[in-house]
Amino acid sequence: MTIKAVTPRVVEPPARLGMGVSVYPSATAMVWPGDGHAHEAVAVPGVRLAPGDVLVEVELATVCGSDIHTVLGQRTAQAPLVLGHEQVGRVVALGRGGAKTTDGHRVTLGERVVWSVAVPCGRCARCRRGLPQKCLNLQKYGHERMRRGWELSGGFATHTHILDGTPLVRVPDDIPAEVLAPASCSTASVAAALEAASAIVPLDGALVLIAGAGMLGLTATAMATDAGARVVVSDPLPGRREAALAFGATAVADPSSLPAVLAKAGGRSAAPTIALELSGDPAAVRSLLGAVDVGGVLVLVGSVTTGPELGIIPEQLVRNLLTIRGVHNYAPRHLEQAVRFLTDAWQRYPFAEQVGETFALADVDRALATTSHPRIAVRP
Ligand SMILES: [Zn+2]
Ligand SMILES: [Zn+2]
Repeated sequence: MTIKAVTPRVVEPPARLGMGVSVYPSATAMVWPGDGHAHEAVAVPGVRLAPGDVLVEVELATVCGSDIHTVLGQRTAQAPLVLGHEQVGRVVALGRGGAKTTDGHRVTLGERVVWSVAVPCGRCARCRRGLPQKCLNLQKYGHERMRRGWELSGGFATHTHILDGTPLVRVPDDIPAEVLAPASCSTASVAAALEAASAIVPLDGALVLIAGAGMLGLTATAMATDAGARVVVSDPLPGRREAALAFGATAVADPSSLPAVLAKAGGRSAAPTIALELSGDPAAVRSLLGAVDVGGVLVLVGSVTTGPELGIIPEQLVRNLLTIRGVHNYAPRHLEQAVRFLTDAWQRYPFAEQVGETFALADVDRALATTSHPRIAVRP
């Protein structure tokens, strides 16, 4: 009888306890305590990284419209929480076993990354149906009540604790952070919206009508133009219409003059076959539904706060073969597309210039109150 040699092994603490990581000076998160309160700086001297977790030092975060909606009380949020879900940063620590980017690359220390707003579980029925952004166990950066063990859960912090399973995408070192930070919300959401539209009508050669020339609208204008579409942008603000032209719009219109502008821009095919509603304005939703051509598609993205009901005439949908799609957040492939697009396009369109002002992390309240530009940034 032979006795099997016993291989000595290192007994590690249970994996669920994670790996303790400290940074000095301590990581700081700006915590929003709830309605009517200013942010408070909270020191987080140590984090525990579970296997697959990543600690990222935030380089720059941008303020998304939904952060503003939260502090204005227009959407419910479980306070106290760390807001911010558009940011770029560098990996400073890895949990046991390391982590991989969405393309299978093993993440290394010092790498520059962006990450999805959503942490899907990857196992539930929704994840299996290809809707990770609507995972039944969903957690979202910048959206969750602060809890012990996941204090650094948003972008308005010196560091963000990236949970295992979060889609991570590498980004080039030579692209300004102002260009990259919006990738994880506005750019990826636009990629998802255009994918939804192009499943019905190919973008190449299409006349696309976009309502709203904020960060989403400008990004969509450039992305659709690059895909071969002619884009007409409607926005009530002259400055925003001017920006849309710099992002490739064929024509721009005040909502009141939209029919005339469309007729001029559309030529023989005067009506758009793709309409993207990115403003959230109920009047724009109605206007786009009325403008879209037979066989066309209306993609709704901007309506993220409670608004009035929209009267739909079923006969209009039937006879005009219309499709209406709602798009909220995105899947990991859209974040990859967003980074690819920005890497290719950032020097052709004035993306960096859309970040108007940059505040220190401690001044995040001022950043949230500033609306002079499509994006305002916070630099830790
Ligand atoms: Zn899931
Ligand atoms: Zn957002």
